[in-house]
Amino acid sequence: MGFFFSSSSSSSFVFFFLAFLQLFSIVNGRNLTHSSFTPFNHDLYHSSRFIAKEIKGLVVRHPDRLRMETMRAQNKGYNAEVLVVTYNRARKDVNDSSKFRILLSFGQHGRELITSELALRLLSSLSEEKSIPNVDLSSLNNILEKIVLKVVPMENLNGRKRVEAGDLCERRNGRGVDLNRNWSVDWGKKEKDYDPHEENPGTAPFSEPETQIMRKLSKSFDPHIWVTVHSGMENMSQRVMKFKHVQQISFGSSFYFFM
Ligand SMILES: [Zn+2]
Repeated sequence: MGFFFSSSSSSSFVFFFLAFLQLFSIVNGRNLTHSSFTPFNHDLYHSSRFIAKEIKGLVVRHPDRLRMETMRAQNKGYNAEVLVVTYNRARKDVNDSSKFRILLSFGQHGRELITSELALRLLSSLSEEKSIPNVDLSSLNNILEKIVLKVVPMENLNGRKRVEAGDLCERRNGRGVDLNRNWSVDWGKKEKDYDPHEENPGTAPFSEPETQIMRKLSKSFDPHIWVTVHSGMENMSQRVMKFKHVQQISFGSSFYFFM
């Protein structure tokens, strides 16, 4: 004996099944093909692939000051890679420890797209392919000669790829861990506004390959200053566009700007 639906009960079943799927997608908030998601806007943000390609081009064109490497790590089958660009005007001593060392990391949270745009712009300016308004280049170069800069343009590449695939609110890495809660400092601490979905700290401090890579980089480079660049979680026009990352679903169709 099998299941049999009359045409009316069959259409009722289909209706309820679709309604269930719809409800599930709203409750779950993870259905990437749901039409209420605002698509990734390629007119405003570059893809991670484009950013990496642009940076590689800069490094090829300016070997006198730029070098790059890709650092990789894995944990339980989860792989991560982090592009690291070193700026040093005297390439022969790329890791010259006599200079002042600055580490700049961008894009630790997947959805903070604008920070990686900033990294690309910074590297373009340091290559002198883009000018910096109202800055005297010779005095800037005097300063730049005294420093070594390491730039991590996309610290959380896997998380960013999820955003590029349409999950615009994803802040965590490719397996749902908030990299900014995966350090050993205050690991597992639940603050007043703790959100287990957004701030999943992972199974242990430094459980995530991305955090392991950053630890390795910071230990070997030993920077005097480390700046990790973030952007806000709500957009400037939130009241108008009714969009908030933590709500997971966009109601506006033309939301672009992440802060
Ligand atoms: Zn952030």
